[in-house]
Amino acid sequence: MTIPLANPYMPYLLGSIDALPHYSAFFKKRLKGLVGPTMVSLLRHLPSQYHQYKQVTDLSKAEVGTRVIVNVTVDEHEKKSNKSPYLIYTHDSAGNLLVLSFFNGRATYLHRLYPTGGQRTVEGKLELYKQALQMNHPTCLGTVTTQASFTGLEPVYPLTEGITNVHMRKVIAEALKVRIMLPEWIPDHLMQHQGWPTWNQALRTVHVSETDVSLSARTKAQDRLAFDELYAHQLGLCLLKERHRRASVAPYTTDKGFLEQLSEATPFTLTQAQKQTWAEILKDMTHGARMIRLVQGDVGSGKTILAFWSLALAAHNGQQAVLLAPTEILARQHAATLANFAKALGFETALLIGAMKEKDKKLVREQLAQGQAQIVVGTHALIEESINFDRLGLVVIDEQHRFGVKQRHALISKGLNTHVLIMTATPIPRTLLLSNYGDLDISRLNEKPAGRQPIVTKVTSLEKIEAVVEGLVKALNEGQKAYWVCPLIDTSEESDLAAATARFKVLQAHLGEQVALLHGRMKPDEKDAIFQAFSQGAIRCLVSTTVIEVGVDVRDATLMIIEHGERFGLAQLHQLRGRIGRGDLASTCLLLYAPPLSFIAKERLETMRQTQDGFIIAEKDLELRGAGDVLGTKQSGIMAFRNADPLIHTQLLTLAHEKASDLIAQDPSLTTQAGESARLLMTLYGTFYELPEEVSHAPVSA
Ligand code: ADP
Ligand code: MG
Repeated sequence: MTIPLANPYMPYLLGSIDALPHYSAFFKKRLKGLVGPTMVSLLRHLPSQYHQYKQVTDLSKAEVGTRVIVNVTVDEHEKKSNKSPYLIYTHDSAGNLLVLSFFNGRATYLHRLYPTGGQRTVEGKLELYKQALQMNHPTCLGTVTTQASFTGLEPVYPLTEGITNVHMRKVIAEALKVRIMLPEWIPDHLMQHQGWPTWNQALRTVHVSETDVSLSARTKAQDRLAFDELYAHQLGLCLLKERHRRASVAPYTTDKGFLEQLSEATPFTLTQAQKQTWAEILKDMTHGARMIRLVQGDVGSGKTILAFWSLALAAHNGQQAVLLAPTEILARQHAATLANFAKALGFETALLIGAMKEKDKKLVREQLAQGQAQIVVGTHALIEESINFDRLGLVVIDEQHRFGVKQRHALISKGLNTHVLIMTATPIPRTLLLSNYGDLDISRLNEKPAGRQPIVTKVTSLEKIEAVVEGLVKALNEGQKAYWVCPLIDTSEESDLAAATARFKVLQAHLGEQVALLHGRMKPDEKDAIFQAFSQGAIRCLVSTTVIEVGVDVRDATLMIIEHGERFGLAQLHQLRGRIGRGDLASTCLLLYAPPLSFIAKERLETMRQTQDGFIIAEKDLELRGAGDVLGTKQSGIMAFRNADPLIHTQLLTLAHEKASDLIAQDPSLTTQAGESARLLMTLYGTFYELPEEVSHAPVSA
């Protein structure tokens, strides 16, 4: 079996960008921030668009506003004052004046680039300024004689501060100097059918490093690279799933007494949808294969209890079980409710979150490793390497879209042949499911517990804030409880906090002790205390940043006020609104906005006002935002497809899924030539998730 690194080009491709000659460490650091750490990540940084330039000789015949390439002779440099732009006067071969204009241009540099009397080829957008033809910040393609190979097509890259498009073009040309030869990983018949170029050729084409790049060649090259990415991803998922499925697990057992105990420990009767899903889960876990099941259910549909029942079933079968939550508040809340539930059944539970004292964490680690803790709830802290289990049997992941494949996998592989149950409120369309999960079994909770009243949603201008505060005071006097959520101002937590603090002070003047501030920076104990007080009613209004977004459950909270609702995405608004209307009281959601509203913001708020249906909202969200954001992966940078978009390349995605399943079915250990090439692709694209060897073989006893 050849290992991918034995291919002589792999060390180069997987090597660090630091190996690029001619660039400063500072520049490379920025470049890495933009494209990723390796040469292959650089090569996969594809242009987002292309500018077409037209070669002209007589500028008077060219259209103003178009992009042109023209040979000019340099006449004179001029810098009038500190504030005025740096100007270079030139003329074309027909004698037309062309002014090149630079803001912040450095004289020495520009004199070197455009010496007076010299002939240069420049490309840029033709503009008319004070009666003269002008180009702002043109690109100098060199002297008239050295630019013969130019195609007229300029790739335009996504950039970052300190890296210009010219830099990107040069750096990528440098990286492409090596002619990379890799075995083909796409099946022959597919290559022929699609007429795709090789990987190396495709890269050269999209980066326009070849001279004869036609539009159709570029499209094929782009498709191929999109397919490569989707295929790598699907191969990784199929491989995981294949190993997951192949492993046999001793079937869990249940008995009538235990099932009765579960019902007794639950303060309500399950809805029909919950019963159905539970039956599916039970079937999975008692049939001797590993479960990988996704439970989709809108906010408030009651997913948590299914998680609890599953955890209890694992514990009942002598296994340890984990509930992974995306935020500390949610983990604490789950732990608190779970502790009551588990006590009734006689199981030991534990909590593990990053903010705990090292001493306490150590204790939990020991309890997990030795097996005393049967059920543990926690955050990312559970994924850390130092966490070991005695006999992990089930992993439940709440609000799954917050975690990536790698994180999920890291936790799952802490056990032998663990069952996996994932919960999400995001109604993910099938295409996206396929792209993020491969195929898994799906249960849908399409019904909410009885007695819920619809939430009234109102959209109000922030100009009416005084009336809103008055209304709030009145509502609280009537015994209601309210959330007041402050906006995301930018990516910095500090400014969000400042806004929330300011709002808190204003409300405090009206509400005194009844109002409290909650934010991500607080110590866990403080957060807990405030949350407790809110649950129990000593505090009646909670001002917070979006820390309460996910999963928090206070049943008698009936008012949700969201400030600057126009700054939130639809999924987020839906999640936030899902914090109210959880009991049988009537609830109101108030979306405050600052006028004027953009078209998209208006659409979002209007959608919220019209519907409470998570599926409709998700569809609208998809339409307004695009795929990555719906899964929340863009922000967290998890799934991050770079060359493909599951929404645009839907067919390629299906194709990639089929081909990957076929290959893994035929060659699960990747020992054929096709398998080896696939492994190489996965290594190159970072989707080859190593599994500890014994996981795929060791039998497990319950
Ligand atoms: P989500 O699906 O958003 O995670 P939760 O599991 O937090 O929803 O449930 C929302 C609320 O509904 C909780 O207070 C929970 O106790 C309650 N609940 C769940 N199932 C039922 C049911 N079958 N009958 C009554 N209340 C229920
Ligand atoms: Mg939940």
